[in-house]
Amino acid sequence: MGNTILVAGAGHGGLAAAAQLGKAGFDVTVIERHEEKDLGYDWFDALNPAVFGMVGCPHPKDAGLPWQWRADVTYFGPHTDDEHKIKQRFKKLSDIEIKMERKDIYRLLVKFARDNGVKFRFGTFIKGPLTLGDRVAGLSTDAGNFYGDLVIDAAGLNSPVRKGLPDCLGIQKDVLKNERIFTYRAFYDLPADPKSVEDVYKVMFRPDPGDFSLSWIYTQDTYTDLLIGHMEPPTDEEIGTIAQAYRDKNPQLGKTRLRGGQTVPIPFRRPLSVLVADGYAAIGDAAFMTMPLNCSGISMSIEASKLLADAIKADKTRTFSAETLWPYQVQFYKQIGFGAAPIALVKDMIIGLTPEQLDTAFDTGLITWRELTITADQHSIRQFLHFDPKLPRRGLTLVKDPALMKKALGVVADCAAFASHMPALPKTYSRDRVQRWARRYDRIFTRHLPY
Ligand SMILES: Cc1cc2nc3c(=O)[nH]c(=O)nc-3n(C[C@H](O)[C@H](O)[C@H](O)COP(=O)(O)OP(=O)(O)OC[C@H]3O[C@@H](n4cnc5c(N)ncnc54)[C@H](O)[C@@H]3O)c2cc1C
Repeated sequence: MGNTILVAGAGHGGLAAAAQLGKAGFDVTVIERHEEKDLGYDWFDALNPAVFGMVGCPHPKDAGLPWQWRADVTYFGPHTDDEHKIKQRFKKLSDIEIKMERKDIYRLLVKFARDNGVKFRFGTFIKGPLTLGDRVAGLSTDAGNFYGDLVIDAAGLNSPVRKGLPDCLGIQKDVLKNERIFTYRAFYDLPADPKSVEDVYKVMFRPDPGDFSLSWIYTQDTYTDLLIGHMEPPTDEEIGTIAQAYRDKNPQLGKTRLRGGQTVPIPFRRPLSVLVADGYAAIGDAAFMTMPLNCSGISMSIEASKLLADAIKADKTRTFSAETLWPYQVQFYKQIGFGAAPIALVKDMIIGLTPEQLDTAFDTGLITWRELTITADQHSIRQFLHFDPKLPRRGLTLVKDPALMKKALGVVADCAAFASHMPALPKTYSRDRVQRWARRYDRIFTRHLPY
């Protein structure tokens, strides 16, 4: 009976799953390329604090770690003026995210795992999976081979484990163009009085020339947080030019970089279509579990860790086969994926809009605070579907712009195709049926993408 679990990479969902499984008596080891002190990035993140309670992890306040509520976002199209900008509105405090330093999130999760008996191998680079036939049997690393009864893949978007899996497992290895976004992030000095800044947290759709881009300028008490997201990695020179263009219109963005300065890819797409194989389960960015409009992935991966840990604990055979791990995929899609995935269809439509069409969408009220408030982690396409007395007027706006209408109807058709395919997710695992379902699921999303 298997008891040994390897977690590849100290991703957030992997750490949370490790802690829950350690608590349940499994022998769990996390293998991570960085040293413990180097985990995470030099910036803060927004996340839903409820996820800590869901997995039995202490809330940051009980762990003595600093956190704050994050500010509401104000959204702008490429040329939106003050009259047409759109501000998020939250109905309940529980919908609002907190912000926490990434290093502190790691402190919390690593301690949670250690307190539950999890072991760590830091400074160990994973080269790929070890396989016995079709079964994942361990990890090949620069410190030798590690064998386990189950490998939880929490090694991020470019996981060498997922990429090294045998093709016959039907698990997608690489993402396509437009399925990931490269984000530069850095904190700059704040040469203005923060109280004079009207839109503290500005998110801008397509602010830069060229392909789709998404950026923010988030004014803090003593610095300004800049994020620039592009479909191809921007060069240092491009970042300098873009930042200067923002600075010209946003005097709160200073010139001196205080922290950060990396460009990192984030999944910008639907979750992975097949999450499990014999001896293998993927979670977090390794399984593309990010909210496809704002690219938040921490809350979703911690939430998913509970579903994964529950499926593993329920496997009385302790074989950790695709069959016994399949309930993880079923529950993930039922509780999270089926709500989050179609948001990627909306994202694909948005990235296909011209700057003029985006401006029209803002200026005519075609998109409203409701659609934009869903980007605050509460990840479900269902939040798009609400009664709106202004719907006829919004419909009229579309009728007046046939090209925009075509794109909007396209996304409605894709969402309908997705909705009709959802119930076909097999309830039990059979490789053929699962791969057939996965191929159709992926095709709904990829048929419009450039390759
Ligand atoms: C600029 C930026 C801002 C973001 N802001 C937010 C936010 O505000 N809120 C939010 O929820 N999300 C945010 N995200 C997304 C978030 O980072 C991820 O979705 C989240 O971290 C979940 O990913 P993960 O933990 O699974 O993977 P990762 O964070 O990628 O972690 C993977 C781990 O695996 C390790 N690893 C990788 N390869 C190897 C290897 N070969 N050997 C050993 N170890 C390996 C890595 O070192 C890393 O520790 C942001 C991302 C970026 C880039």
